Amino acid sequence: MTVFVPACLEEAFDAFDKCPDAQLLAGGTDFMVEVNFALRRPPAVVCLRKVEELKGWRLEHAEVVLGAGITYAELMGPQLSDLLPGLAQASRTVGSPQIRNAGTLGGNLGTASPAGDSLPVLAALDARIVVASKKGRRSLGLDELIIGPKRTTLGPGEVIVEVRVPAALGSQEFLKVGTRNAMVIAVANVALVVDWAGQSVRCALGSVGPVVIRARDAEEFISSRIDWARRTLTDEGDVAEFTALVRSAARPIDDHRSTADYRRHAVGVCAQRALGRVLADHNGGTWEQTSWAS
Ligand SMILES: Cc1cc2nc3c(=O)[nH]c(=O)nc-3n(C[C@H](O)[C@H](O)[C@H](O)COP(=O)(O)OP(=O)(O)OC[C@H]3O[C@@H](n4cnc5c(N)ncnc54)[C@H](O)[C@@H]3O)c2cc1C
Repeated sequence: MTVFVPACLEEAFDAFDKCPDAQLLAGGTDFMVEVNFALRRPPAVVCLRKVEELKGWRLEHAEVVLGAGITYAELMGPQLSDLLPGLAQASRTVGSPQIRNAGTLGGNLGTASPAGDSLPVLAALDARIVVASKKGRRSLGLDELIIGPKRTTLGPGEVIVEVRVPAALGSQEFLKVGTRNAMVIAVANVALVVDWAGQSVRCALGSVGPVVIRARDAEEFISSRIDWARRTLTDEGDVAEFTALVRSAARPIDDHRSTADYRRHAVGVCAQRALGRVLADHNGGTWEQTSWAS
């Protein structure tokens, strides 16, 4: 098997010229599991670890630009935790330290699992994903890149190069439920972003449908019920309606990890708690102790 180790994107594209069926390898934390279980037999591999353009992150105007090769450990670093707290929270729940050191954001997108922990955060942040090939670049929303369980719209020789998200967009929360506390694939996960300046709430649900789901009705409802000047809810009773709308947005299935009913319940609890935490940040920490956050 041929293994290409390009140092830059141009060299990666050249590798696809030489071997169009080659497959991309980043941290290998999904890829190698499939190889080991004989679910994948790549004729050639393009290893992305040394590709300079995929490394690190930068601030560009009001956007954080994350290289596709950024690892979960890097996303948990102090500066990025401040800029993108939801993504840092999600990263902390991924696998073990070894997985977080090797696994990348680009790999999470490339795998396109409905349970991928970075994906609800990217959806709630309205992230743009930039993909490139020898033919040029295109920028996609998450729903344009991931169109089904483990299905993307990536074309031959296309590489995810970066993810662009608005910097410090209000408050962010990520919550995950699994069958145990650590080293676990999500039974349900939720990202909630409150854009105080734009007066909107965005809520994305993972592991409760074939792809990440934006709970649009719930978002619209709760955005209309927040007193944006006081940063509080006008009526605590609205939380029940928000939770019900989140649950009705979910399209879960029964599988070896959970029942659909439990997933629907869990996603509602996560969304409710995320909302409580975001509001508590601005109200002396009391919201989460109220009766509805259960
Ligand atoms: C023990 C264990 C625990 C795990 N826990 C979690 C967890 O809690 N949450 C979670 O979400 N995931 C988890 N995972 C899955 C995995 O770690 C993540 O999905 C990770 O982000 C994959 O990144 P990677 O760099 O290792 O990708 P790789 O395994 O190298 O690649 C994954 C896929 O993406 C493609 N790919 C990689 N980079 C690119 C790119 N730049 N452009 C286009 N395609 C690309 C590859 O071709 C491949 O199909 C776990 C895995 C293991 C083994």
